[in-house]
Amino acid sequence: MKVYFIGAGPGDVELMTIKGNRRLHSCPTVMYAGSLINPQILSGLPKSTRIHDTSKLNLEQQVAIYKEAKDANQDVTRLQSGDLSIYGAIAEQMRALDNLGIKYEVIPGVSSVAASAAILKSELTLPEISQTVILSRISGRTQVPPDEDLEKLASHKCTLCLFLSIHKIKDVVKKLSIHYPPETPVIVVYKASWEDEKIIKGDLKTIAGKVEKEGIRLTALILVGAVFNSKGFEDSRLYSKEYSHLFRKKNASK
Ligand code: SAH
Repeated sequence: MKVYFIGAGPGDVELMTIKGNRRLHSCPTVMYAGSLINPQILSGLPKSTRIHDTSKLNLEQQVAIYKEAKDANQDVTRLQSGDLSIYGAIAEQMRALDNLGIKYEVIPGVSSVAASAAILKSELTLPEISQTVILSRISGRTQVPPDEDLEKLASHKCTLCLFLSIHKIKDVVKKLSIHYPPETPVIVVYKASWEDEKIIKGDLKTIAGKVEKEGIRLTALILVGAVFNSKGFEDSRLYSKEYSHLFRKKNASK
């Protein structure tokens, strides 16, 4: 018996991996986080599959389901939104499984950050503009460690992707404005890859008003940085004629 933690992707059912989807269809028990997983992912499962919406269950109740499956010697799929390594809340589940002697495996997924960059047709790392991406959030029920306060992270002025923060957009703007220039582009992607996806483009001066007007308070990423409006970047070294590497000799095209 094994538990498979599977990244379900950002919403679009076609953005789940083939491996994850195959596992999903082979497990008699499926647990999924109701609010963020597209229910279409669950369509076509065998009628006998036992499906649990974990958004209604506390950790103890979820662990009870794992225990039951262990006793019945049946595999479990645990679906989480996007990729599991980012705000996946899987670490405490794995600890509980370790205590129960249950084996598990993690199958990655397409994070909402990758999906949003694709929708925007943006590269988050542009030569000489930004070569660093920070994934973070503003403090909420879960406190961010003081050394990672948004104000401190903002001092790097690199590309910034904020999860779980849209309901505090005004606070976000206030903290970022200490370091980023006011005309820094800010893009909010609401429900990336879902049918009701929305993209709101602005800058540090305008974004809070725009988001408030749209009434968005959940399921959105805040993307910040000069990469989002920059046409004035250098070509990357990767394809440069002057640059050779293991797979291409210098000036090979000549
Ligand atoms: N593991 C997920 C993140 C889970 S935390 C991932 O890799 O994407 C939940 C937060 O992720 C939401 O508050 C929102 O900030 C972001 N999020 C998840 N799905 C999203 C989507 N489809 N579009 C935009 N943001 C999304």
